[in-house]
Amino acid sequence: MLFLIGERVSSKSEIAGSRFCAVCGDTEQFSHVTETNYFCLFGFPLLPIDKLSDYYCCSRCSNAYQDLVAEAPSCVPVLQRTLSYIQLGYGQSQQKALVQDISRKLCGFDYSQEEMRKAAFQLETGDSQYLEYLRQASSRMNSQGKVQIIEAAFLMTYVCCEIQYEDRLRVNLIGNALGVSLEFVEYAVQRVRQNNYYGVRRLVPIKN
Ligand SMILES: [Zn+2]
Repeated sequence: MLFLIGERVSSKSEIAGSRFCAVCGDTEQFSHVTETNYFCLFGFPLLPIDKLSDYYCCSRCSNAYQDLVAEAPSCVPVLQRTLSYIQLGYGQSQQKALVQDISRKLCGFDYSQEEMRKAAFQLETGDSQYLEYLRQASSRMNSQGKVQIIEAAFLMTYVCCEIQYEDRLRVNLIGNALGVSLEFVEYAVQRVRQNNYYGVRRLVPIKN
C-alpha cells in the first residue's frame, strides 16, 4: 500500500483585541498570527511538527510583537544584538554612538548602554549561540522585522569594513538563521543601498 506522506504549513490570523503600539504611538487593533508546520498523511495534517510563526501584529503599522504586553516589536532587541554582534566582530566596541544612531535609523528605537552591555556579555558565548538565538527569535517576527535585521547586519558590515566574500556570506548566514531565502537577503541589502546607506558614516578609510 502506498502512503502519501509529507509536510504542510497551516497559517492562521485571528483578531486579538487592542493594545498600545509603541511604533504608532496609539492604541491599535492586533491580530494573532500563527504558522504551524504539520506532518501530513494523504494530504491531511496529522501532527504539528514545529511553530514557524507566533506573534501579534499591529493592524496599522504591521509590526510584530511577541505578546500583547511587550513594550517594543520583537525585532528590536534582535536587531540591536545583531548590530553588537557585527560591531564587536570587527573590533569596534568603542563605537557606541554610531551603533545607537543606526538602531534609531533602522527601527526607530533607542539602544541603551545598559542593553549594549547585556548584548556584549551574551555574545561572548560565540557565533553559533548567536545564530541559535536568531533561529529561536525568528518565529516571533514577521517579514517586516526580518528585513530590518538583515538591513542592520549589512549596514553595520558596510560601516566596519570593505566588504569581501566572507563578510557578505555572514549576512547570508544571518538570513538563513531567520529562515528567509537568499533573494529575501538581497532585497534587504538593496534597500540599504537605495536608502544611501541611511547616511551613516563609515569607519573604513574611503579610497579615491
Ligand atoms: Zn502599530
